[in-house]
Amino acid sequence: MSELKARPRVKPVGGRWLTNTLGTGGADPPRGFNSFISYWRAQTGVANPACYAAGCPGAGTGGGHVKLAGSAVTALAKFDWWIVPACSRHNKRSSCGSYKAKPGVLAVSVEAGVGDRLRALPAEGKKLIAAFMGKHHL
Ligand SMILES: [Zn+2]
Repeated sequence: MSELKARPRVKPVGGRWLTNTLGTGGADPPRGFNSFISYWRAQTGVANPACYAAGCPGAGTGGGHVKLAGSAVTALAKFDWWIVPACSRHNKRSSCGSYKAKPGVLAVSVEAGVGDRLRALPAEGKKLIAAFMGKHHL
């Protein structure tokens, strides 16, 4: 797929609401990197980032998968996955929390492989069903 050749984008997201992507615990880091945070550091040149979440005093020790959306429901319409530096609390696997980014936070785009997207589908599908329950009757 051509999207696999896309170059990483670095985007300032300070002040925006970000929603953790569901079901990304099994995703592999991009080729050439042993972790998502090392990938993020390589793209931004920032060695020791703080956790992206506003009000959090933690260090951004891990790369959290997020979508640029304010809630798990609106995140369903977004297909781009982004990495932000996150502490362990804000990088919980399978969390669907939404947090506001601190000023100056940089997000780095990451290409999700087909397998990664398929693994995320069951969790996202449950959200979709919950969101539309009662609105559509077959
Ligand atoms: Zn945090």
